[in-house]
Parts: sequence; structure tokens; C-alpha cells
Amino acid sequence: MRIDSYLRIPERATEAGGILIGCYRGPHIEITECSEPLRRDRRARLRFDRDDPGHQGLASRRWSESGRTHTFVGEWHTHPGFSSTPSTIDLKTWREITRHNIAGSSVFLIRGDDGWWAALGTARSLTQMSLVPPDDE
Ligand SMILES: [Zn+2]
Repeated sequence: MRIDSYLRIPERATEAGGILIGCYRGPHIEITECSEPLRRDRRARLRFDRDDPGHQGLASRRWSESGRTHTFVGEWHTHPGFSSTPSTIDLKTWREITRHNIAGSSVFLIRGDDGWWAALGTARSLTQMSLVPPDDE
């Protein structure tokens, strides 16, 4: 998976992140794509700030190209050198996102050295999810 490459040298020097794009199908959220770090994002050892407007731009493009089915469904970031457990800032940021994402629930992914951490968020509440690994990596 592409997100894994951000845990390898040289990318693992700083955190990386992006948004998840997909669609809502009844009770399911299908993730079809993720954006990757862009030039104007701020990447630090222990921090990733998704400042580049290109992420939102991609979501808007997919929204119109798909006839209003594919959109922002969540975000991902890495914890290189650390566990994938979310920080207090992560949880706070995610709760904020769920408050603004009125389209539906949001998926939050962290990739750390010890694996993945995933949560589903709706209206400020977060539920940790277990991940089923894909067959074809
Ligand atoms: Zn984090």
C-alpha cells in the first residue's frame, strides 16, 4: 500500500499524511483513493499539518467528476518511529473533522511502526475499528 512507503527512508524523517477519498454506500464507506503530502503541507518529526489546498482541491475535483458520489471520507497520517496510537492532538483534530463533515462518517487512519490504528467518527464521537488486511498488497 502506498501509505507504507511514507514509513521508509527518506520519508520517515517526518510525519506524512493526506485525505481519504471515497463514497458512502448505505452503511459502508468505500475508500477509493488517498492524497499524498503536498508542497505546502507542514511536515515535522512529530507533526503533520495538512495546509496545502491541493487536498481539498482533489476532493472537489473527484466530487464533480464522479457526479457527486466521491468525496472526502477521512484522513491518514504516519507516526514514523512510534506506535500508531493517536495523540491527544489527533483525537481533537478528528473530533473537529467529524463535526464539520456533515456528509457522513469519517475514517481516520494512522500508520505507525507497530501497524495501523483506525477509527470511524460521527458527530464528535470516535469508535476504534479493526482492520482487515487487503488480499493483494
Ligand atoms: Zn498523529
